[in-house]
Amino acid sequence: MSSDRLVKGNQSFTSKILEQDPIFFENLKTGQSPEYFVISCSDSRVSPSVISESPLGTMFVHRNIANQVRENDESLTSSLYYALAHLKVKKVIIKGHTECGGVAAAKAGNEEPYLKSWIGGIKEGFTNQGHSTEDDLNELVKANVKAQVEQMRQHPVYKEYGKDTEVEGYLFHLGSGKLEKLDV
Ligand SMILES: [Zn+2]
Repeated sequence: MSSDRLVKGNQSFTSKILEQDPIFFENLKTGQSPEYFVISCSDSRVSPSVISESPLGTMFVHRNIANQVRENDESLTSSLYYALAHLKVKKVIIKGHTECGGVAAAKAGNEEPYLKSWIGGIKEGFTNQGHSTEDDLNELVKANVKAQVEQMRQHPVYKEYGKDTEVEGYLFHLGSGKLEKLDV
């Protein structure tokens, strides 16, 4: 994708919004009050705002490989704190997706130095849910979402600032484009 493609796409994006609402972008300047804090996989096919037609200003988003929640992840921890203590989001959403490459790497036992530690944490999550690398990939994907929901509920920042904030798990199906709410 060339940078021209990005600029042209942006011109089309802004003109469509301005047709509907001429002061939309001026209003964005005044601040944000998102309803959701979303933790999503970084995968280029699963952009949480795109798949749910969520306008700018509705989602505070943290993304990493396989939508992980780790107490020792400073980036996640600071985003979570800001979302709960300052933005006062109404829901925390963990959103996984079928055919997740991160979960597939954990199933396959990827040993690449810059991936190994992160991937090991993914494996630990689905193992704690009673699954093994022998299981079907999309079963592991689901177990991974459940594990991250549990890790969120145990996260010290969530425990301190999120007691009135629900945590929900979702699964995005790449083959159909459907978003499924999981029982977690
Ligand atoms: Zn993924």
